[in-house]
Amino acid sequence: MTKEKDFYEILGVSRTASEEEIRKAYLKLAHKYHPDKTGGDKAAEEKLKEVNEAYDTLKNPQKRAQYDRFGRAGEQFAGAGGFGDFGFGGAGTDAPFEDFFDVLFGRGGPRRRAATPGNDLEYRLTVTFREAAAGTKKTIRLARMETCSDCSGTGAAAGSQPQACPECGGSGQVRRVQGFFSITQTCGRCRGRGRVITRPCSRCSGTGRVRVQRDLAVELPAGVDTGTRLRLAGEGEPGDMGGPRGDLYIFVEVAPDALFERDGNDIICEIPISFPQAAVGATIEVPTLNGKAELKIPAGTQSGTLFRLRGLGVRDIRGYRHGDEIIRVHVETPTKLSAKQKELLKQFQEQSDIEAAYPLHRRFMEKLKRTFTG
Ligand SMILES: [Zn+2]
Ligand SMILES: [Zn+2]
Repeated sequence: MTKEKDFYEILGVSRTASEEEIRKAYLKLAHKYHPDKTGGDKAAEEKLKEVNEAYDTLKNPQKRAQYDRFGRAGEQFAGAGGFGDFGFGGAGTDAPFEDFFDVLFGRGGPRRRAATPGNDLEYRLTVTFREAAAGTKKTIRLARMETCSDCSGTGAAAGSQPQACPECGGSGQVRRVQGFFSITQTCGRCRGRGRVITRPCSRCSGTGRVRVQRDLAVELPAGVDTGTRLRLAGEGEPGDMGGPRGDLYIFVEVAPDALFERDGNDIICEIPISFPQAAVGATIEVPTLNGKAELKIPAGTQSGTLFRLRGLGVRDIRGYRHGDEIIRVHVETPTKLSAKQKELLKQFQEQSDIEAAYPLHRRFMEKLKRTFTG
């Protein structure tokens, strides 16, 4: 099995180095190992070959991306097989037969760990009925992983750098020859990362990330309801190997209200009215989200009748329309009557034309009669 040196290590640049930084590093090394300078030293000649090879890949953004994802295997694949449709040109490397198979079988298998997006986070936020209807700003506190500021996420202690993994030479994978074929496996030493920490950062123990409490301002638009999910892009946990941050999802829960119930963008309020109010009609005051309104109860209103106050409900979360406020009246039978009131009600009953005054009662009696005679 061959150990391959990491191209970035060869040029002495970081994995995030710009094209200009790579070019400068290359020029410096090419100058240093030039035969004119070294007088044809064999070791220097080898070095120059490495430097040229590394630069050949890293100077080309496509080849570099390919290398970042697959290590040298990806590059050799193009060179050996000539599959030009991978979006990068043939590297011109004279890959041995064994490498070709290795690459073929290794394609779907282990490879250097690619950039991984950070985890999404969830937060359950309870708001009052009125906050949900009107919209609100909240500050939420959550504990989430952040890139360690002491080591800038490298995991290496101050003054040290992550080193190319000595086991796999930075490729993140190791090869094992079995008979005719060789099998590629994720490197156990660096777990495919291609780098190892020799002196771990004390704050993050070499993981490159720490858990921190964070206060976030969240703006809830008017009209949120239980079950509304808000996405705060990029407020999740940091990615790995340069991957993007995850998102934060806020799940809204609306606490019940003493007066109102919610039905989509409509709000429902049940209001008791007295039996005389229901019988002769009245104008009553009803609560609304912003204060109060007047509602005319017509004479002869039955318990359970619904009245719709247009536009006094919750604003649609998309901001266009308002729902309605629906008043459900409940006719309350009086209790604790005085002797005088009882007497008046008896007189009232005696004077009533039952047939005309109580249509529900009349219909019921008719049904009853049909049941017993039919
Ligand atoms: Zn750290
Ligand atoms: Zn390794």
